[in-house]
Amino acid sequence: TSEIALRGVHKWYGRYHALDDINLLIAPREKVVICGPSGSGKSTLIRCINRLEAHEQGDITVGGVELGEDDRKVDAVRREVGMVFQQFNLFPHLTILENCILAPMWVKKMPRKQAIEIAMDYLGRVRIPEQANKYPGQLSGGQQQRVAIARALCMNPKVMLFDEPTSALDPEMVKEVLDTMVALANDGMTMICVTHEMGFARQVADRVIFMDRGRIVEEGEPEEFFARP
Ligand code: ADP
Ligand code: ADP
Repeated sequence: TSEIALRGVHKWYGRYHALDDINLLIAPREKVVICGPSGSGKSTLIRCINRLEAHEQGDITVGGVELGEDDRKVDAVRREVGMVFQQFNLFPHLTILENCILAPMWVKKMPRKQAIEIAMDYLGRVRIPEQANKYPGQLSGGQQQRVAIARALCMNPKVMLFDEPTSALDPEMVKEVLDTMVALANDGMTMICVTHEMGFARQVADRVIFMDRGRIVEEGEPEEFFARP
């Protein structure tokens, strides 16, 4: 059975057809890389999976829960799906640690002490535990993005969505973020990554999907995909 299923999904922005009949089944633990030109709908597609955008036609099911109008279902799905954005989206007035414990405490009602333990564990895994009491503005872009990954992991999601996580980084920081993502992939998490990092795709993707004008126009295993003329 699929962890994520999109069937006949359409989305319009006004008259602009942003997603045009998307059909996509993703298995538990599968790693999918989505690429394609700017404006082809990649970001819209993954934002529909955790309902940051609402689709207008078709069905989206995440972990057996169908995303519909029911807000409780949206909440249930968001608890299982972590998301990392291009621009980190950390709260600037909260410390790194506070950023990480916020959702576990308020969404999952986790006791503060336990939330801190889990957060410190993940900050250690992304190799920045010593920055826990600093503010996002005191960290490099690469460090902030690793915090954003740790923060998402603190919710213990089944699925991680990445929307161009390295595009806003200085070149020398790209590798440290990609290394963190490779480690996650090896942990067996289901991952969907919008990225232009084809080295990363080759290394971890089970499947590469190419989008153009709101449609999935090609897909295949990385070997097969990159061998095409
Ligand atoms: P990609 O991630 O592939 O660059 P997006 O999914 O961000 O593409 O956008 C697909 C198209 O939809 C683009 O033409 C973009 O301008 C348009 N679009 C995205 N978000 C909105 C929005 N909130 N309102 C109107 N148009 C949008
Ligand atoms: P990306 O492709 O990296 O997602 P974009 O520049 O396409 O970034 O979009 C950045 C933000 O602006 C997104 O939240 C998107 O929904 C919104 N957006 C994009 N295009 C439009 C548009 N034509 N009208 C309104 N909002 C838009």
